[in-house]
Amino acid sequence: MQGTMLYGPRDIRFEHRPDPTITKPTDAILRLSATCVCGSDLWPYRGIAQLKQPTPMGHEYCGIVEEVGKEVRNIKSGQFVVGSFAASDNTCVICKDGYQSSCVQREFMSTAQASLLRVPLADGTLVATRDLPPKELIPSLLAASDVLGTGWFAADAANVKPGTTAVVVGDGAVGLLAVLSAKQMGAERIIAMSRHEARQKLAREFGATDIVSERGDEGIARIKDLTNGIGADSVCECVGAQESMMQAIRSTRPGGYVSYVGVPHGVELDGEQLFYAEIHLHGGPAPVRRYLPDLINLVLTEKINPGKVFDLTLPLDQVAEGYRAMDERRAIKALLRP
Ligand SMILES: [Zn+2]
Repeated sequence: MQGTMLYGPRDIRFEHRPDPTITKPTDAILRLSATCVCGSDLWPYRGIAQLKQPTPMGHEYCGIVEEVGKEVRNIKSGQFVVGSFAASDNTCVICKDGYQSSCVQREFMSTAQASLLRVPLADGTLVATRDLPPKELIPSLLAASDVLGTGWFAADAANVKPGTTAVVVGDGAVGLLAVLSAKQMGAERIIAMSRHEARQKLAREFGATDIVSERGDEGIARIKDLTNGIGADSVCECVGAQESMMQAIRSTRPGGYVSYVGVPHGVELDGEQLFYAEIHLHGGPAPVRRYLPDLINLVLTEKINPGKVFDLTLPLDQVAEGYRAMDERRAIKALLRP
């Protein structure tokens, strides 16, 4: 098959790779219907996260099961399935508590920008739909695999509830879908922090009631203005940078909640500042598997349309252009069709 490899900064190659095979009896092999480029792929692409050797890329996927190992019980050949970026058994104590992304048997997926994919722990990782979904819902089902699940976790971990005020820091695909998630969870007011017109527009479509384009002290002052001077109940940090994390913490009212779902790069917290902020902090790699059955159902019943974050669709062999477009912020998110 052909697959995506990152050789070094901004050096994406689509090249011959060995076909994946069943290596453990709990594996499944999928023929992918769609895959995509993640915001987190841009860290190694930009050379900020260092690579030791050429590395296969991709961790968002949905597709048709081609083959399953001998011990796979629930997933069958021919089913359409969605999985998360973290393979999990869904049976250990941590999984049962809803933190499948830290499963004791976790394996991070990293070869999904390809036509075929091996998925470990297939029974625990994959969720099958009853029927083959209509083609037009594939982008939204693909979104459930990571960005929607991560945006949902951002809103959930920030304790968004009916009537609350939520702030979303970050206007990437995850931030935009945190807006959609907060709306689904009944937030009364949703403030999206964004400077880009196209992204502001999509944030409003997904349910944002206010847009704040200022950052830093000015951005925090704007949030205080909008929340009776005290800060928001729930703040979702969807970037992973120092500035965005501090923006989130300082925009939250005492007793409020900050979630953080962007892979952090260079984030350091000051103990004294945290102490007097008196907030709840909850984040990490999103346990997408916890939410997958509900999210798939919301997509199939067309209650949500998270696939709108894909504003660029390319054939998989043009994956390098997908990275370029996202790196240059010409695209929010690139969908790749094998
Ligand atoms: Zn587990």
